[in-house]
Amino acid sequence: MKNINITRKISQGMYVLTTKNGGCIVDAVSQISSGENPLISVSVMKKNYTNELLKNNNKFAISILGKDVNPDIIKTFGFNSGREINKFENTEVNQVEGINVIKDSLGYMICEIVDSIDNDTHTLFIGKLIEADIYREKEEMSYGYYQEHKEELLKVTTEKGKTAWICTICGYIYYGDEVPEDFKCPLCGVGKELFKKQE
Ligand code: FE
Repeated sequence: MKNINITRKISQGMYVLTTKNGGCIVDAVSQISSGENPLISVSVMKKNYTNELLKNNNKFAISILGKDVNPDIIKTFGFNSGREINKFENTEVNQVEGINVIKDSLGYMICEIVDSIDNDTHTLFIGKLIEADIYREKEEMSYGYYQEHKEELLKVTTEKGKTAWICTICGYIYYGDEVPEDFKCPLCGVGKELFKKQE
């Protein structure tokens, strides 16, 4: 027996992972050791542009999102690819250690990459925390909270007169009467069964 749904009970958060020239939304961030320079791990989809960038950079930043974050941050960093748009164009950032961190966050951690592990879908990057700060003492947004409030948070607007199917994982919109059988979400890779028709 392998009921993989139990993994949904693992608490995860909502973060913007950035490095030089790019960034994306991630949910799997952990502190995996303690001390003065704890190790922080972050898992990134291999198909993400940010993953490609991280292979050629030695640092990353994690900006921790609060429940009150402007949803545009999630849209910009989660529903687009840095291959197509400049995600920083309309986002207020602070430069720390040469990396853009998100101003509209609870704070950030800058890590120096010490190791990485690849599997078929993701790369786990492990970094040593070298700099960090707290911007606001507010409640963080958990991944569970995001999933529960996604619709109201993102208020997905679709083009009128077209049938829209929304990826329940990442928010990508597919237009058409039916999602093709072999369709894979271009942003997060899930299949047709995870698309919901917009009513
Ligand atoms: Fe998706």
